Amino acid sequence: MREEYLRGDQESLSSGDKEIEKALRPLSFDDFTGQKKTVENIQIFVLAAKKRGESLDHVLLHGPPGLGKTTLSHIIANELESTLKITSGPVLDKPSDLAGLLTNLEEGDVLFIDEIHRLNPIVEEYLYSATVQINLNPFTLVGATTRSGLLTSPLRARFGINARLEYYDAHLLSTIVTRSAAILGTPLDPEAAFEIARRSRGTPRIANTL
Ligand code: ADP
Repeated sequence: MREEYLRGDQESLSSGDKEIEKALRPLSFDDFTGQKKTVENIQIFVLAAKKRGESLDHVLLHGPPGLGKTTLSHIIANELESTLKITSGPVLDKPSDLAGLLTNLEEGDVLFIDEIHRLNPIVEEYLYSATVQINLNPFTLVGATTRSGLLTSPLRARFGINARLEYYDAHLLSTIVTRSAAILGTPLDPEAAFEIARRSRGTPRIANTL
């Protein structure tokens, strides 16, 4: 059970934990600790898109569970002042599911597809099929994956921005749990924060759960 609880993925969280996770999710680039190079890069793309008044290029976020892919997709949508629509690869069963989603997107929307490597191949093919012609509003797709090696090359080629999230060191995790404790109103001294950080396997989700 203990192992289960400490998995970095979201499926291991209870509904109460999910609520807490939501409360702890940073909402701006400034609040997002670590991943400095990656965040700077994305920030530049976001600024440029806003300046041009165009939608941001599609973004692929990859890396192990619990490192901030979903969080970053929320931040990207926030910073673009766009609406975020959320789905995941395994949920999109049939091409019509994806078609429905895409045709309902408004200009500038951000569509987040979690576990995009688990997109059904039939659904994925529909994306490229020359016989299907639908007029879509310009939008930004943010794909998240823990297994970027499983993405087909045509899908991978759709993403103009490709970012890999890395494990966090104990100092960064210590900053993250200290922020979380403040939000939850829990006293936490620096030594305790560091002890939690050391035991979190480089993963903010595990640090927050602990
Ligand atoms: P993923 O989508 O990669 O599985 P999430 O974005 O859902 O991970 O992150 C899990 C939790 O960890 C979030 O609720 C968030 O509070 C926290 N978190 C992740 N990355 C950061 C970060 N860089 N700074 C602060 N908190 C973070």
